[in-house]
Amino acid sequence: MKPHWRDDFPLIVERGDVAYLDNAATTQKPQRVLEAVRDYYRCTNANVHRAAHRLSDDATRAFEAARQTVAQRINARTAKEVVWTRGTTEAINLVAAAYAPLVLGEGDEVLVTELEHHSNIVPWQLACARYGATLRAVSVLPSGELDMADFQAKLREHTKIVAVGHVSNALGTVNDLETIIALAKAVGAAVVVDGAQAMAHFDVDVQALGCDFYAFSGHKMYAPTGIGALYGREEMLQAMPPWQTGGEMIERVRIEATTYAALPFKFEAGTPNIAGAIGLAAAVDYLNDIDFAAAQVHEADVLAYATASLQQVEGLSIVGTAPHKGPVLSFVMDDAHPHDVGTLLDQQGVAVRTGHHCAMPLMDRLGIPGTVRASFSLYNDRDDVNRMVAAVRKAGTMLVA
Ligand code: PLP
Repeated sequence: MKPHWRDDFPLIVERGDVAYLDNAATTQKPQRVLEAVRDYYRCTNANVHRAAHRLSDDATRAFEAARQTVAQRINARTAKEVVWTRGTTEAINLVAAAYAPLVLGEGDEVLVTELEHHSNIVPWQLACARYGATLRAVSVLPSGELDMADFQAKLREHTKIVAVGHVSNALGTVNDLETIIALAKAVGAAVVVDGAQAMAHFDVDVQALGCDFYAFSGHKMYAPTGIGALYGREEMLQAMPPWQTGGEMIERVRIEATTYAALPFKFEAGTPNIAGAIGLAAAVDYLNDIDFAAAQVHEADVLAYATASLQQVEGLSIVGTAPHKGPVLSFVMDDAHPHDVGTLLDQQGVAVRTGHHCAMPLMDRLGIPGTVRASFSLYNDRDDVNRMVAAVRKAGTMLVA
């Protein structure tokens, strides 16, 4: 039986010709998100926080209610701890630009992992270069799990920031954040979590996790592109200077000097993505309203079924076999470049991602140029998997021939 969530996603219903298995890149949008964005532009559009007219008040109220909705979803203590950004990349760059200078100096270290997306590596490389610190990376085991002994060995009193993904976009590995955060806290390091691949599939409670920062993107959790958020613990955000500057983030500007707005506006220079924030809140409302636990069981079933099915295909190896995974399945085929496999799957109506998945250090560690990656969502089902497996088998015969 088709999962009933499918009906909530117009593109999935209308584009039955495509088995959409590229959800780690971006998810499709439910009807209520599309409607929220459209209704905002049709009925409420105005700039926020500024004008003394009713439309602007309405827009501001909707925009700030959206922040509250997101704060509640991740169990932030207050909406002040939620800063709107363009997405995960911008959120991590914000921390690297505004927090790193407070703690990094000569001889200090930032610890990332070889599993990270480039968004959680390159900002730290730049920050380390700027402040004389060193970037180190925790090794990954062949299973795609972090080598926790290596993590402990590399974690020391000079480690000022630990930046780690919640769920690997390339392999699906779910990291043991509880242990990582406890160990990092024991040496006094701040913890930045890249939650891009977690928000659509797991309950995230930033207080229970105890992380200092948690970054995520709306478009990977059924919301529009161009909106995301940075959760930051209030005292951390208070201590940090602004990063981008201009309108919206000020309290009083004189030519001689400027005072800054209160949290979270201090970090939100310029006109924000108002419609995006409202769309993100609609996506959160959607996740709050569905039976999320049932969706998680369904996604796990699709992943298990796909894993078992692909294991039957001769010449195919699954990359990433951690026991705890998000709904991501990476694989390689003997004597075939992932791009060629992806092209042949596309010709058969199966949309997957191929390549290094913005995780080149991980590919280097695994000794492969890239993988073919199928990533699932609640609207995927075993039929999608069957289509993919049939297409993979056919691709196998064509590539050998
Ligand atoms: N981190 C991870 C784990 C991701 O999967 C992605 C996107 O693929 C990003 C960061 C970057 O997200 P965005 O491009 O939305 O900023």
